[in-house]
Amino acid sequence: MKGVAKGIPSISDVDSHALVAWLRAHAEPAYRAKQIRRHAMHGAASEFEELSDLPKTLREKLAASFRWSAVELEREEASADGETRKALLRLADGHHIESVLMPHHGARNAVCVSTQAGCPMACAFCATGEMGLVRNLTAGEIVDQVRYWQRELAPRGERVSHVVYMGMGEPLNNYDASLSAARTLIDPNGFGISPRRVTISTCGVVPKIDELAQEGLPINLAVSLHAPDDRTRTAIMPINRKWGVEEVLAASARYVKRTKRRVTFEYVMLAGVNDSDAAARELAEKIGRHGRKADAHLNLIPYNPGPGGFRRPSAERMERFAKVLQDAGIAATLRISKGQDIAAGCGQLKVSEGKAAATT
Ligand code: SAH
Repeated sequence: MKGVAKGIPSISDVDSHALVAWLRAHAEPAYRAKQIRRHAMHGAASEFEELSDLPKTLREKLAASFRWSAVELEREEASADGETRKALLRLADGHHIESVLMPHHGARNAVCVSTQAGCPMACAFCATGEMGLVRNLTAGEIVDQVRYWQRELAPRGERVSHVVYMGMGEPLNNYDASLSAARTLIDPNGFGISPRRVTISTCGVVPKIDELAQEGLPINLAVSLHAPDDRTRTAIMPINRKWGVEEVLAASARYVKRTKRRVTFEYVMLAGVNDSDAAARELAEKIGRHGRKADAHLNLIPYNPGPGGFRRPSAERMERFAKVLQDAGIAATLRISKGQDIAAGCGQLKVSEGKAAATT
């Protein structure tokens, strides 16, 4: 983005409507809008200048009015697992976020996007929570994380196949931008990712779960539950004071009823905190009481080294916990996050402001 002034919008923050208006104001035909957006979302180009099927004058006018990307690479790290990659990305105002690419044997390429720089939710076990909220991201800044990875994959003839809103921030606290980005991601004229491959994860902002259920978007919802009872959940997730376990489960059941989609519950396994057989049984009972057990899926995430002085339970304990749930009729899967060696696992994303250094 050499020479592009601060304050210029990114092309992905400009919707089709605004782009058509801009084209009209610059005496360019409206049909260019589709072409520009297709290039911006799908292509491997890294600046307007490379869009060789657009007239040079139009490319110059675009470059003077818009930034090609709202995020720029500061540093990338690759995990020793040979697949997971993490990018530290710089925003136009100098703040930083992280975004993770999680390829899976060439069969899928999932991107984990951030929706906020930092996060206000302060979950006790989460590194991002330690940062506090820096600011909300724009829709373009969310979409441009996917575009960044898409540009990396394009030369290999691969595409981003899945997007999970599980990076830094609480998506439902930045609702409009998160939804607007999701619409661009699933728009056939935008990114064209199947809505069934887009997942929004929330720590349980109940009114916004209900709002999301009304959007008519067949995307997936993941809910970070982490405890079956209010006492434990409040101790590790301050948001639970506002919306307790029963309210979160009830909202999740309403989401399932309204959208006909399954809900995934995430459950970070913390030794001696939420990993007992009794906790598993209570969890199964409550999930069953609020909805059909068959509609729920539980992802057990072993605690990744982070704040709070927690410990990961033993493998036997976690397997036993999963078994109690499965015996009670709940589909539960134990998932080890990849990329822990580069602090790219769940809850490990963190940026220290001013230093542009990812601390681990
Ligand atoms: N704010 C949203 C999006 C974050 S998703 C949400 O809370 O769902 C990131 C997931 O990683 C959440 O389920 C979060 O609770 C989990 N997580 C946070 N810290 C973690 C840690 N140290 N180990 C494992 N998972 C963690």
